[in-house]
Amino acid sequence: AWARAVGERRLLLATPRSFCAGVERAIETVERALERFGAPVYVRRQIVHNRHVVSELEGRGAVFVEELDAVPEGSLVVLAAHGVAPAVRRQADERHLRVIDATCPLVAKVHHEVRRYAARDTTVVLIGHPDHEEVIGTVGEAPDHVIVVANPAEADTVQLPDPARVGYAMQTTLAVEEAAETAAVLRRRFPTLTGPKRDDICYATSNRQAGVRQIAAQSDLVIVLGSQNSSNSKRLAEVAEAAGTRAVLVDDASELELDLIAGAERIGITAGASAPPELVDHLIRCLSGLGPVSVTENGTLTEDVRFALPKEVSQP
Ligand code: SF4
Repeated sequence: AWARAVGERRLLLATPRSFCAGVERAIETVERALERFGAPVYVRRQIVHNRHVVSELEGRGAVFVEELDAVPEGSLVVLAAHGVAPAVRRQADERHLRVIDATCPLVAKVHHEVRRYAARDTTVVLIGHPDHEEVIGTVGEAPDHVIVVANPAEADTVQLPDPARVGYAMQTTLAVEEAAETAAVLRRRFPTLTGPKRDDICYATSNRQAGVRQIAAQSDLVIVLGSQNSSNSKRLAEVAEAAGTRAVLVDDASELELDLIAGAERIGITAGASAPPELVDHLIRCLSGLGPVSVTENGTLTEDVRFALPKEVSQP
């Protein structure tokens, strides 16, 4: 796919990359809430795990808080894309907050699965990273019925109250292959294991991982745009590294070390589902400033997933 010209640095863009439907919906929810109800609009936690998105919205009047006790009674608060435990909603009620829920519908689907298992008194093994906000929210749906396992090794040793009554669910932004291995270990140990009809790892996560794997094979270096606390962005860097190519995860071009770039003739570029597309354009402009470049789009996969906005910001 590379264009050829002597002395040119070649940039290969992964497809798809950058914003997913859940992130676009969450950001637009805050923007519309600001337009409709005026500042301040409180947001619990980072609306999506990206530094640029958060500071952009802060500039427009969004106020990010860690917990709801920092939100004045009666105010408007948006819940972030990663979802929350029911206890957070109760706290919002107690404080008489007006809530707009920007939880991604694909995360809400996993919450729903967990509630269904718990209602049938079935243990759910949740494959995911225990410290991630999404997992904390999902566990909160039924803390007595959920056990988190992070990887195949943990799946191999996990002990369940009733091994005959067990299902599994997943965090939406895992490494596709490792999660499949973890599920396979569970299936081997617990033959009656039930799981979701369609995998919980979302379309955006798996498409971006497939996209970066393709460009990694043709690159000397892969640059992943995304924040360090973005699970899906981190996984993109790992997938590139697993393909044998050095990868760096940076918030934007300013964090790149020049000697890294200097040694790379073929640079693959992608961006996590929470990273704005403008950052890719900016990176390309910066790299062009270092010398001639050719830019090639790799692949043609387009995503047509769109989610309706929450009614509070969509109804007239
Ligand atoms: Fe939703 Fe997937 Fe985007 Fe997360 S990465 S917000 S689950 S579409």
